[in-house]
Amino acid sequence: MDPSSSAGLTRGFQVALCTLTLTGFLELFCASKTVASLLKSKEGPSLYRACLRANLVNNLAIGPITYALATEFFVYKSDPDSGYSLIRSFTSALGLVVTHALGYHYAHSQMHRPQMYWAHKFHHAFAKHVTPSSANAVSVVEYAYAYMLPFVVGCAVCAPDERALLTAVAVISVNNLLIHTPALEVLPQQL
Ligand SMILES: [Zn+2]
Repeated sequence: MDPSSSAGLTRGFQVALCTLTLTGFLELFCASKTVASLLKSKEGPSLYRACLRANLVNNLAIGPITYALATEFFVYKSDPDSGYSLIRSFTSALGLVVTHALGYHYAHSQMHRPQMYWAHKFHHAFAKHVTPSSANAVSVVEYAYAYMLPFVVGCAVCAPDERALLTAVAVISVNNLLIHTPALEVLPQQL
């Protein structure tokens, strides 16, 4: 493995650890009642085990591999003289977020077709008990197709540098966790 691939893999693991830490934080402090109610339901314990397993496999295996591949082939390798400006980083990060949103929207609609629903069914098993961990509780096929592929396509289209890629990953990943944390919706009423 050449040094840039192993650096990409390491950075991918760091991203995964940040995601898992934020997931755990939200799960403990904002969704403990939802988790307790999920665990009390009939299929709850096995469903929650599958949820935690999917979080580990998706975040720690598929995520870093995809990050390393995207970095290797599509991310602009900036050096101090490359002239990759802050404006260019900002526009490529924005382009990446938009490309990912379009790609995810298309993949999600495809997975609601009867021929592909098998890949998406697991995620909707959490419709009644929406927990932060359910954000990444998707099948391996869904994670690769709807979550990761739009990032790779976005990198190919936008040629971000690494700071742009990390910014886009953070925006998309944090938003994904927040929309799966319904407890936060009532915060403004409590303040
Ligand atoms: Zn759906």
